[in-house]
Amino acid sequence: MSGFFTDPGEIIVSQRNLKVVVIGAGMAGILAGIKLQEAGVKDITIYEKADRIGGTWRENTYPGLTCDVPSHHYTFTFERNPDWTRHLPPGAEIQAYFEKVTAKYGVDRLIRFNEEATRAEYREGRWQLDFASGHADSADVLISATGVLHHPSYPDIPGMSDFQGNLFHSARWDHSVPLDGKRIGVIGTGSTGVQIVSALAGRAALLEHYVRTPQWIMPVENGFFSEEQRAAFRDPEVLEKAMDFAGYNAKVDAYTQAIIDDQSEGAKGLAAACLQNLEESVSDPVLREKLRPTHKPLCKRLIFSPDYYQAIQRPGAELVTEAIDCIEASGIRTRDGQLHELDIIVLATGFHADAFMRPMQITGRNGTTLETVWADHPKAYLAITMPDFPNFFMLNGPNGPVGNFSLIDIAEHQWHYIGQLLDRLRSGEADEICCTRQALAKFEVDRTEAAKKTVWFHGGCHSWYLDSRGVPASWPWAYSRFVKEMEAPRWEDMECVSHAS
Ligand code: NAP
Repeated sequence: MSGFFTDPGEIIVSQRNLKVVVIGAGMAGILAGIKLQEAGVKDITIYEKADRIGGTWRENTYPGLTCDVPSHHYTFTFERNPDWTRHLPPGAEIQAYFEKVTAKYGVDRLIRFNEEATRAEYREGRWQLDFASGHADSADVLISATGVLHHPSYPDIPGMSDFQGNLFHSARWDHSVPLDGKRIGVIGTGSTGVQIVSALAGRAALLEHYVRTPQWIMPVENGFFSEEQRAAFRDPEVLEKAMDFAGYNAKVDAYTQAIIDDQSEGAKGLAAACLQNLEESVSDPVLREKLRPTHKPLCKRLIFSPDYYQAIQRPGAELVTEAIDCIEASGIRTRDGQLHELDIIVLATGFHADAFMRPMQITGRNGTTLETVWADHPKAYLAITMPDFPNFFMLNGPNGPVGNFSLIDIAEHQWHYIGQLLDRLRSGEADEICCTRQALAKFEVDRTEAAKKTVWFHGGCHSWYLDSRGVPASWPWAYSRFVKEMEAPRWEDMECVSHAS
């Protein structure tokens, strides 16, 4: 059987013209737009609620914004970027990369901006869509590419609205507020808080970092690529040799093995490097103890930083580990009664990681709603499909691999899988495809059992990896297993319905 997606070189036997709607024009939606066009799908619309592409990289613009995945590994495999200026890609360069790719592959023509999908319902074999603007559309296939971390989580600190200075979430940075010479409090010590503190040290008159749970910090180099290097990287062979893409994937696999087995050599190596970084980088023993985490490294998403420990030791920077009592008109009051007077408070307090495409209301076959299926927690077979939601496929949906590696790579593998489902629909072999209930139920049991063996579960911390039951929601196996699963669907796990039969 030849197919559009699986064997592009063979004779095309497909007849059905599918109309495909993609929700979201971030990295994953752009990928879908490229791959659908490449496959010859003619009727594609990508709906984007904002007025620009970019997702995470559009919404996050905070000072110091960087991706901790090495630049050359944070690209589409089919569109490398010789022009990265640094070893770790700055947020603005990532946004520019996606804008360039969107234009180069003609994806911009497919996007309708300022259209927020509010409802999708499967009726009479098609997805019927409603938008906040009043616009309506329908599609044979609906692809959700709405991202993972995009609903800011605001802390429940009393008095936040009383603050007379400027207060904003890291993902809603107010660029009209001057920073130099100001007294700034940053709440939160995830990757975001650490990057912001590193960028603002030396600029603020006073920089207070409010840390409830200290984090392990993995040292990383973030040098510049020279002009000569960038010129040389235009040759794909030079780039391949310099970056060793296959070797990097082996490292990603070892990293995921370390999460599964904290006694593995990889886990021990990472733990030793974090410990050495703390011991050698922080000279004041009191500060060092305040910065020492009590949980195991990798329990939370590991923080890679070239300069946080240096930043927090600069004059004007202060670590505050005393718990926050409340926010008042002039600053933050800690439990010891001290009032910390501030001009700006930044909430680097993370995101609601369980929202995915919600608050969009999605109703599948026979009136089955997403809210019912996800009543206890978000779930999807192999992170891609759900029973009773035919022809609805997710990129970076729940239970997929999320960690210190490239989500672009993850989405490409997922597309390889989804493409094969679309092949069946286009060839007319099936009119409706989704996983069976049994397949999802078994996946859930296996996934939950495996999740409870990971360091995310038993490492002594709380993190956004955990669902409402305290079970890690991310892919709990090795990266290599994910890659293997994405090679080809197990058709016995799929319900393929033909309307003709
Ligand atoms: P996060 O990892 O969820 O961290 C949130 C921080 O806010 C934690 O330190 C948390 O403390 C703190 N916090 C929350 N509520 C608080 C309260 N009421 N009082 C005091 N502290 C409070 O969020 P994030 O740093 O934005 O990162 C989210 C994810 O985005 C990352 O894990 C990563 O996946 C992604 N990210 C990636 C990069 C990158 O370089 N690739 C950069 C930035 C972000 P507790 O730990 O005590 O809960």
